[in-house]
Amino acid sequence: MIPSSFSYTAPSTLDEALKVLNELGDEAKILAGGHSLIPMMKLRFAEPEHLVDLNNIPGLSYINIEDGTLNIGAMTRESEMEESGDVQQHFPIFLDAAKLIADPQVRNFGTIGGNIAHGDAANDHPAVMIALGAEVEITGTGGKRTVGIDDFFYGFYATAVEDGEILTEIRVPVPSGKFGNAYHKTERKVGDYATGGVAVQIELDDSGTCTRAGIGLTNVNPTPLRATRSEEALVGTKVTAAEIEAAGQMAAEDCNPSDDLRGDADYKRRVIKALTKRMITKALERANS
Ligand SMILES: Cc1cc2nc3c(=O)[nH]c(=O)nc-3n(C[C@H](O)[C@H](O)[C@H](O)COP(=O)(O)OP(=O)(O)OC[C@H]3O[C@@H](n4cnc5c(N)ncnc54)[C@H](O)[C@@H]3O)c2cc1C
Repeated sequence: MIPSSFSYTAPSTLDEALKVLNELGDEAKILAGGHSLIPMMKLRFAEPEHLVDLNNIPGLSYINIEDGTLNIGAMTRESEMEESGDVQQHFPIFLDAAKLIADPQVRNFGTIGGNIAHGDAANDHPAVMIALGAEVEITGTGGKRTVGIDDFFYGFYATAVEDGEILTEIRVPVPSGKFGNAYHKTERKVGDYATGGVAVQIELDDSGTCTRAGIGLTNVNPTPLRATRSEEALVGTKVTAAEIEAAGQMAAEDCNPSDDLRGDADYKRRVIKALTKRMITKALERANS
């Protein structure tokens, strides 16, 4: 299909992009990797009158750890996450997710900022960011503001990024103690969106007691979902088989999947239960390795 007509601008600075976005208001859409937006435009689910391309703006793509925080520039590509030493060492969860996202072509272009800003509960990074307790930096003409991930997704394809603003950075705390993380999803075929997915981070003190658990669920709720009761079932425990079983059961009970071509709601709840148990176990193994 062919998208409806639109104008296109590719500013070379962040200030210029913000100025254009403010002038154009809600008739403009930001173009990052284009791998969610362009398909939607071709299907005419999105018909923006103007595209503001961020690809010519330097300084929006980086991965570094500073002062106990992993900083990810919004225009960082999926494939750059796969190649980062910091990510490989501390956050293998991103590698788990990346290898399940589409194919190398999509991963070479799709950005981490775009994956989150799209606000799609079927995307994999929202659940990962929930598990990791990330925060998001949003820049507007008035300056920068920071939004915790739990306040970022607030509706179907709706996020805290307002018209005239740009998501510029994602920040992930690097825990000071032992920690491990893992992500997996089931898919109908290689490269498909999740039937259901589970992201887990487990943090432990020296005695092996869980001090924090983060559990995010993919594509089983209108918005990316935190499995709060499952997290609470783990914190303060040694994360034994009994707690893992309880956390899996709670995640299955607390998600809100719908019947669709990927399976019925009951099947998806069983997927979430199995994956929650497996990902807690894997995150724990990584924390202790
Ligand atoms: C065949 C195929 C399979 C895919 N499978 C998966 C999958 O399994 N899992 C998965 O997670 N993803 C999947 N994707 C989506 C892919 O990961 C996208 O690249 C990603 O979701 C969006 O990133 P993008 O950089 O391409 O964003 P774009 O498509 O450019 O933008 C997406 C939306 O976010 C907005 N936006 C982008 N960047 C910013 C910013 N910095 N600030 C504010 N708003 C912004 C845009 O205006 C637009 O509304 C797939 C895509 C394709 C084509």
